[in-house]
Amino acid sequence: MHSLDKLFFQKILEENMMGDVTVLGLGMMGQALAHALLKAGHKVTVWNRTAGKDGTLVAEGAIAVTSLRDAVQSSSLIIICVSDYPAVRAVLEPVEQDISQRVIVNLTTGTPDEARSMSTWAAALNIEYIDGGIMAVPPQIGTEAALILYSGNHENTFIKHCALLKSIGQARYVGADPGLASLLELAMNAAVIGMIGGVIHAMTMTVEEKTNIVDFAKSLLKPCLNAISEFIPHFAQQIASGDYTNNVLSQLGPMSTALADIRRVSRDLNVSTELLDPIQALIDRRIASGFPYDEFSGVCEELKLKRPGKPED
Ligand code: NDP
Repeated sequence: MHSLDKLFFQKILEENMMGDVTVLGLGMMGQALAHALLKAGHKVTVWNRTAGKDGTLVAEGAIAVTSLRDAVQSSSLIIICVSDYPAVRAVLEPVEQDISQRVIVNLTTGTPDEARSMSTWAAALNIEYIDGGIMAVPPQIGTEAALILYSGNHENTFIKHCALLKSIGQARYVGADPGLASLLELAMNAAVIGMIGGVIHAMTMTVEEKTNIVDFAKSLLKPCLNAISEFIPHFAQQIASGDYTNNVLSQLGPMSTALADIRRVSRDLNVSTELLDPIQALIDRRIASGFPYDEFSGVCEELKLKRPGKPED
């Protein structure tokens, strides 16, 4: 056989022996990702720094390797999900020569700048880097309830692997800036944390009054929050336009009075108001600035900090 043909067949053979995807990091989230990929029928190689986290995955068909080099060499697509970006670097840098020409999808939570810096590092090594942000908890992975955001300047690579990535959750490419998925993930988490904080306050108020809070949560609170969430795009339009008096649903003046009542009753119930106090302060500051007829969205002007070197609007 001609030596070029031999090389060609050797490459085909090697590619057939390769896995579809390698998952690096088998914490709670990494295990859920690997589990969903296996369930979808993919050939999955798994690796974790500490041994002993791959038991159920191996039973489901995963190839577990102890050598990091073997792990990254066994697939052209590598998903990494570890605690933070320093951990990502600790895993990838020792094998950086072995991942050249491969695709890295980093689903670890981090900051936009960390994502951009990883992307620059990868580009210098000829690695196709896609950053991702997971909006889900492990039990949701592999279902439509899991939303995963991706960004980076390799959109075609994302498209090529989209079918596989859909097996871990809805796959949404959000733009070429590698930091964008991270920024949107953090912003969405800010909204979730704020909402859950309010929910916990409401439950603390009601539990102190010996109410059946499970029933309260199911039959009143959840439907109420669902209904209110319909207005999220309305607030977004106001923030985008800078006009907080357009189609106002509820003005800041009465909202300030209502919030003061909630805080007073909370104190009567011996419930701390420390989650609500900063919101009252923001609302009252916006009113004092001359905007009592604004929608709640108007407080975003009070949240904007002046950036050094940025000209005033
Ligand atoms: P875990 O704490 O369960 O797992 C952490 C993983 O990181 C383990 O595999 C651990 O390995 C590995 N790790 C940490 N440091 C290093 C290092 N220096 N070198 C190699 N491996 C390291 O975390 P999760 O799996 O829950 O979370 C992983 C990522 O997913 C985080 O960025 C998290 O924010 C994100 N995420 C998690 C969600 C969740 O609900 N769990 C939701 C959305 C995002 P070892 O076993 O050896 O310690």
